[in-house]
Amino acid sequence: MSRNTVYLDYAAATPVEPRVLAVMRPYFTDRFYNPSATYLRAVNVRKDIEAARGRVALILGSRPSEIIFTAGATEANNLVIRGVLEEYTDGNVVVSSIEHDSVLQPARLYQHKEALVSPQGIVDMDALRELIDEHTVLVSVIYANNEVGSVQPIRHIALMLEEVRYARRKAGNERPLYLHTDAAQAANYLDLHVAGLGVDFMTLNGGKIYGPKQSGILFAAARTRLKPQIVGGGQERGWRGGTENIAGIMGFTAALELAQQQRVQETVRLKGLQQLFFAIAENNIPGLAVNGPRKHRLPNNVHIMIPGQDNERLLMQLDEAGIMAAAGSACSASDEEPSHVLKALGLSDEAARSSLRFSMGRPTNEDAVRYAASTLGNIIAR
Ligand code: PLP
Repeated sequence: MSRNTVYLDYAAATPVEPRVLAVMRPYFTDRFYNPSATYLRAVNVRKDIEAARGRVALILGSRPSEIIFTAGATEANNLVIRGVLEEYTDGNVVVSSIEHDSVLQPARLYQHKEALVSPQGIVDMDALRELIDEHTVLVSVIYANNEVGSVQPIRHIALMLEEVRYARRKAGNERPLYLHTDAAQAANYLDLHVAGLGVDFMTLNGGKIYGPKQSGILFAAARTRLKPQIVGGGQERGWRGGTENIAGIMGFTAALELAQQQRVQETVRLKGLQQLFFAIAENNIPGLAVNGPRKHRLPNNVHIMIPGQDNERLLMQLDEAGIMAAAGSACSASDEEPSHVLKALGLSDEAARSSLRFSMGRPTNEDAVRYAASTLGNIIAR
């Protein structure tokens, strides 16, 4: 990258960390064997996969058998939503209105309800509880939102669900009530201990944590039941057929370990840069508003609304100045509509179209933030 090229779209994609790439490389060449084969070299590859499963389980505080390797978060989200709703065909699912499309769209294929969020983008616990009826089998709430970075009170939601389960048991309702969280954006900064969070299912994604795209997991607690969605060769104990993406699995695992090792330090560092970004932008841009919460926010997320501006136009002008940022959800490939997340926060279509997301990452430093925030100010002043 040239001196004045600043990438600020780490919520959309992260570069693969060199140590992760080094871990992956042998699985394309020397260790290419099909892990289902019987000769020793293939058996050794199978052992590597099982060791990786154990390492992921250690981070989540789960059993290795509760980890299903998938091709990214979209697949994991589809597996849990479709898998549970197809297992419990008279059940319904409750999701928050700020889920990623890979949760919202599968949920909309079934009986589903969407819980409102506060203007800061935090799920309204009372609204959520009211939507849960005796047929609800699954609640899915994103751990940290991919657009505005709002961090959801997953532990509190889990405690509330525990009360509902208790009342159900007393009423003789045997139906399960599972909690899923999509933690694709959370793994760089937040604790992923599944028992601490109180979740039955969790989605993770390699492409957001400096690992390879099309890698990830669904954590599925042993007590849960769901129908597999990709059937075939019986891999992943029947949960997900298809010859294993060994390089992806090994890369994802290494990336997850590195992300969790660095998460506290990175949180402190990026919080400082986030405050700096907000301060420069607020000082230079009249009428600027911050979208999403000030507290309970991912440390790498800067999401702002600039009155009267068109975000597509701003993105082009920023790109000309070497700054790569995003409007709406960079995760959906072809979305002309204003973001459903910003609308759920109560922004008008016009305000949503005047909003921009800058998401920082490991290489982001103070110079990058100063350059991006002041360039944005100069563009607006022109
Ligand atoms: N969930 C969240 C919160 C995301 O940010 C993304 C981003 O793309 C996804 C799911 C989907 O991930 P992928 O496209 O890698 O499957």
